[in-house]
Amino acid sequence: MHKFQSLRGMVDLLPAQIRLWQMVESKARKHFRRAIIDEIRTPILESTELFARGIGEGTDVVGKEMYTFVDRGDRSCTLRPEGTASVVRAIIENGLINQGPQRLWYSGPMFRYERPQAGRQRQFHQIGVEFFGLDSVNADADLISIAWDLLNDLGLKGLTLELNTLGSLDDRNKFRALFVKWLEDRFELLDQDSKERVHKNPLRILDTKNPRTKELLMDAPSLNNTLCNESRQRFESLQEILNNLEIPFKLNFGLVRGLDYYCHTAFEITSDDLGAQATVCGGGRYDGLVKQLGGPDVSSIGWAIGVERLILLLEKSNSNSISPYIYLVNKGNKASLVALSIARKLRLANFSIDIDFSGSAFSKQFKRASRSGAKWAIILGDDEVDEGRINVKKMRSDKDLEMDDLLFSLYDLEGLISFFENSSIEN
Ligand code: ATP
Ligand code: MG
Repeated sequence: MHKFQSLRGMVDLLPAQIRLWQMVESKARKHFRRAIIDEIRTPILESTELFARGIGEGTDVVGKEMYTFVDRGDRSCTLRPEGTASVVRAIIENGLINQGPQRLWYSGPMFRYERPQAGRQRQFHQIGVEFFGLDSVNADADLISIAWDLLNDLGLKGLTLELNTLGSLDDRNKFRALFVKWLEDRFELLDQDSKERVHKNPLRILDTKNPRTKELLMDAPSLNNTLCNESRQRFESLQEILNNLEIPFKLNFGLVRGLDYYCHTAFEITSDDLGAQATVCGGGRYDGLVKQLGGPDVSSIGWAIGVERLILLLEKSNSNSISPYIYLVNKGNKASLVALSIARKLRLANFSIDIDFSGSAFSKQFKRASRSGAKWAIILGDDEVDEGRINVKKMRSDKDLEMDDLLFSLYDLEGLISFFENSSIEN
């Protein structure tokens, strides 16, 4: 029989990972709610033209990574490779862009035809935030702080915020001319990819991963030197604000985002633990985009987190398993029925509780209870039921199963619930 396999670069998410995903999503929601950022959901399929115009013809994404096909109505369609262009289309199309500043977030699958490797897939997921109509540099800092705080709240260590400015459109054009001239003089020394970019998308060469080109670039003109006073001041105030917020950062003048529409602030959050695919979050300001896609001249800033890379980090940092607060050990016909009803009442009272259905020896169930990471175990046998009591043990550590028993009346579940409520910090 032919065995089916998922397409290259398309990955199943199994229960062990979904737990982490849900933890990430629920923390992200919490951070967005607190910052009054609203969710927006857009279709996965859009017209190809939207991305060609919104991301830029000269980019890798549009040039060689898009999943594009012609539908039955002869339209060229593309599976979205990123979220920003769609969000911009949606808020223009639905008039939100005329209703004052917008703070929005989105999450979902993105598609890029890339060479799959750890942290690089063809279907991957992003969680992203976009602010529209907020010109102040304070908004840049606010947006960055939301990404920084979320990643830290997830318990990630070894994160670095890298920061750069691309200046105004004017600054960038000035730099571009200088840089292209410089590249042309050294054309033969460039790697193949970079040669192709010299006229199509020269800024992207600054982001090359080729070691020889990297070395060559050490003497290249710096964007930093073509900044006008206003752009320079803006960048300096951003740094000051971040210092005030006690968010550490590192300047990286080679940092250019892959997409065409960035200006002023560009940033990435990278991790020591991700090898070649080090960037967990990338973002910046892209003031010209809304206008370029047919809307009013409204500024925008945003970032996107790659969820798969985040999950890889969480798996490494071992904050993996989600444990029940209570593990319910039970044995015997009467006990198993009472156990079900206790589990149900505790769940309704908002406690996470895992119930053992094996009917195996108490010792075996205990082992499972301690492996589960539960804070408490409830032990219920037919004897307990006959005597009308519930045995509760505090789980201390994997090996330490010798614990003091606490007794509760089987007929006073309220008492049991309020005991757990008083002893729980977070369940
Ligand atoms: P890279 O330089 O790693 O290709 P990028 O500049 O193309 O990244 P963005 O378009 O800025 O990435 O997307 C934001 C984030 O989405 C990245 O920082 C990364 O975490 C994630 N991401 C991008 N492409 C992929 C992919 N193919 N598979 C998994 N995650 C991805
Ligand atoms: Mg890429």
